Amino acid sequence: GTGHITTSYIDVISGPSKTADVEGILVPGIHGPREVILIVVERPEMVSKPEVYHCIGCGSCLTICPTYCAIGNRFGRESYLGGVGVAKASIIDPMEEVFYCTTCNLCRENCPVEIPVKDILLKQRREYVKRYNLVQGHEKLIQNIRETGRIFKDLPVQVRKEKKARMVYFKGCMSTFRREEIAQAAEDLLDKTGADYTLIDERCCGSPILKTGSGIEELIDYNISRIEESGAETILFTCPGCLDTFKNHYPEKYDLLHISEYLKEEVDAGKIQLKEVGETVTYHKPCHLRTDAPEEIIRQIQGTIYKEIKEGCCGAGGGVRSAYPEISKVIAEERLKVTKETGAETILSACPFCKDNLKEGEQPIKDLTEYLNEMIE
Ligand code: SF4
Ligand code: SF4
Repeated sequence: GTGHITTSYIDVISGPSKTADVEGILVPGIHGPREVILIVVERPEMVSKPEVYHCIGCGSCLTICPTYCAIGNRFGRESYLGGVGVAKASIIDPMEEVFYCTTCNLCRENCPVEIPVKDILLKQRREYVKRYNLVQGHEKLIQNIRETGRIFKDLPVQVRKEKKARMVYFKGCMSTFRREEIAQAAEDLLDKTGADYTLIDERCCGSPILKTGSGIEELIDYNISRIEESGAETILFTCPGCLDTFKNHYPEKYDLLHISEYLKEEVDAGKIQLKEVGETVTYHKPCHLRTDAPEEIIRQIQGTIYKEIKEGCCGAGGGVRSAYPEISKVIAEERLKVTKETGAETILSACPFCKDNLKEGEQPIKDLTEYLNEMIE
């Protein structure tokens, strides 16, 4: 049971009427129907998307959903609220609101029946694009990738190191074109720790295309061919979105690490000595990052006071920032209220998109790579 009171619209029919009152002989149909005929009507939406019907309506996903908290019932239709509501309302005909989801996955993590709302909405996005078109803010992004292989149409990047190496550092579009300081800090740290690594003339990992519609085979083939040329067995990422895409869509033949996992090993092995700064920091965990390595490193820094905050989304993910910047901005403002309450002098994060979306707050925000690079002895 769900703990809910049963509605009066439901009749429970357990079988034909029967009695054995007269001389203990079972006689069916005396007080009601002699037989019950069960007709099963198959509703196509129940067959194709059964998970959303497991919802018990507890509302736990609404209070945690960044989009619902930002725009309320606009993320839903009539009495179908939040991501699960949009998913239900989009079963037959997807509505544009399927693109409002930041793909943070917080709803599933807080759902007692673990409904994979994000995954359902992503499938419905593909259906939406097939039936209608890309939503406006995504057209340019996808066109850029088709034309240049990158999400930004900037000048091609000169790759400083493309050589045989044990590891590839896959910078990702955001650290290459918009948050270059993160890529620079990552390279500095790799150089300082003597890592045997190379950069490659990479293309977009394909994540934005997956969030909006079609396949990414060409991008995968291109990136894999460059990685193969390097001979690397390990790929390092500063972007959790790229890492997630490699984990779920690329051939399973490499060790895939967020750079914080590599740095944690170096700190543990005593290869990185950090200066004592005596600063109060908080850490915004990127939704798509699965490792706790950043928090573990922060806790190990002598003199740094770490103020923890509850999980939350920066508002940049899932293509929300490119298509609906006003929603993304409200989500970022809400997140910055949470970081401000800690009184921390600096916000740390481990994702170029999070840094970019939370950069307008009163507290400075740094990627963990930048923070460690400044503190290294
Ligand atoms: S994945 Fe995040 S934004 Fe999307 S419906 Fe769930 S909680 Fe809301
Ligand atoms: S948390 Fe899960 S069960 Fe509860 S309302 Fe949301 S989707 Fe339904």
